[in-house]
Amino acid sequence: MTTQLTPDNAAPTAAPPPILSHWIDGRPVEVLPETTGPVYDPSTGAVIARVPRGGAPEVDAAVRAAAAAFPAWRDTPLIARSAIFFAYRELVWRHREEMARLITRDHGKTYPDALGEVLRGLETVEFACGLPVHLAGLNTPNVATKVDAKTLRVPLGVTAGITPFNFPAMVPMWIYPIALMTGNTFVWKPSSHTPGATQLQAELWREAGLPDGVFNVVYGGREAVQAILAHPGIAAIQFVGSTPVGRMVYETGTAAGKRVGAYTGAKNAMIVLPDADMELAADSAIAAGYGSAGERCMAQTLVLAVGDAGDRLRPLMEERIGKLRIGPGLEPGVDMGPIYSAEHRASIIGWIDKGVDEGAELVADGRPFHRADHPEGYFLGVTLFDHVTPAMAIFHEEIFGPVLGMCRVATYDEALALINGHQYGNGTAIFTTDGGAARRFELEVDVPMVGINVPIPVPAGFLSFGGTRGSAFADLQMRGEDSVRFFTKQKEVTVRWPEPGRRGALSLVFPGNS
Ligand code: NAD
Repeated sequence: MTTQLTPDNAAPTAAPPPILSHWIDGRPVEVLPETTGPVYDPSTGAVIARVPRGGAPEVDAAVRAAAAAFPAWRDTPLIARSAIFFAYRELVWRHREEMARLITRDHGKTYPDALGEVLRGLETVEFACGLPVHLAGLNTPNVATKVDAKTLRVPLGVTAGITPFNFPAMVPMWIYPIALMTGNTFVWKPSSHTPGATQLQAELWREAGLPDGVFNVVYGGREAVQAILAHPGIAAIQFVGSTPVGRMVYETGTAAGKRVGAYTGAKNAMIVLPDADMELAADSAIAAGYGSAGERCMAQTLVLAVGDAGDRLRPLMEERIGKLRIGPGLEPGVDMGPIYSAEHRASIIGWIDKGVDEGAELVADGRPFHRADHPEGYFLGVTLFDHVTPAMAIFHEEIFGPVLGMCRVATYDEALALINGHQYGNGTAIFTTDGGAARRFELEVDVPMVGINVPIPVPAGFLSFGGTRGSAFADLQMRGEDSVRFFTKQKEVTVRWPEPGRRGALSLVFPGNS
């Protein structure tokens, strides 16, 4: 349906790459080629599209459209709004394969992984379909004589979402359904690296019946984000991306009086106890460490092996690494695609060099991997380090690539202290057959998303998703009931309906509740 990027891995032609358009007030807004930047296919290095570099004028146009659409959207009956969400849900479902192919083309992740992303995003759209339930208020009768109190949740106005490259459909779908269902209008600033599935989402909203101006898209980078932060017409922002940018967005946005939730970088660790099912632990470590080339904020990139668990786990992991197939994400049977950009590939290689310099044991080296049939692709093999220690930078820093480190520890308590003392706190997991140990872990670990024999514990789309320490700058979690609170403000209405003809005496005393 989208005219912007062909979803199929079409053979290159002489035609210039298509230019993507901002989406403002229900329609594409075309831009001049000189105000655009390249979008790459990471499996070939070819330029497959050009993405606008929006800034203050485009953000202002989007905010004006969103502000104009707000009163009517806020006042649209809940059931009518809900019907649009059901329609959008059906349309995304119908277009899920097209959307997944678009994601694979500019991100590089495998097609089944991209399809999984779309379906996990849909869970939050489904949550939004039930909006009348979530917007029910409270009614407290008789707070004083013949006086009742009502608690209402009302929308904020124009809201914004700023999203990262690594989940071009799922992460936005964690934000905009709840912003919209609560009666706000929305401006989305997607990542310029992976914009391919953006316009399809906008077009499907229009097809679902969303009024013009309620959902807008402005492409761009730093300049567009600064314009969002500075715009007085934007009441709230949810940001997902790296820690330095998220911290800046939180500090600048809140200083400007906006409500901001920023969900940021991570370095997740899984504990493997000696009593664990080692086959399951090995499958999980490989899947969580190398899935999507490690470019997931919930990737587990540290394995904290307790006692002799490491000696038994390592050969099982090596065996699995030997079987992984790396190639273009649209190639059937591929386990891992390329890295999303040439610069990021170089950064990951720098981290592997650093790990070697720091003295970690290099068990598998992804650096020499290449695909002879895709010489310009940003491919990298998978890397496994053993004997990583907390003295090393590769223990502490987010690499965001297929680099997994095993750290040997003597006890569960030592492993727990390493997780709780880490600068990041996003997701974690424990592998054990001991229910008592698992129970201790879920209570003692200071990380919001915990897996018990589950390696990537991303909560279901109707539940909240959060982070702690360097992984979030926010008072509330994202999604679920926390996001309903984030995107609304609460009002307390105190109501008196006196009986006809009966009035109390005039009094200037502060009113009591009796
Ligand atoms: P990023 O911070 O580079 O970009 C995120 C957004 O900010 C993009 O829209 C980008 O255009 C914009 N941006 C980038 N640099 C900017 C700058 N200097 N000033 C203003 N805006 C800027 O992040 P990324 O590389 O796209 O995504 C990867 C990061 O996102 C990783 O750190 C990963 O852990 C994190 N992430 C976190 C979650 C989570 O839920 N906690 C989920 C996905 C990704």
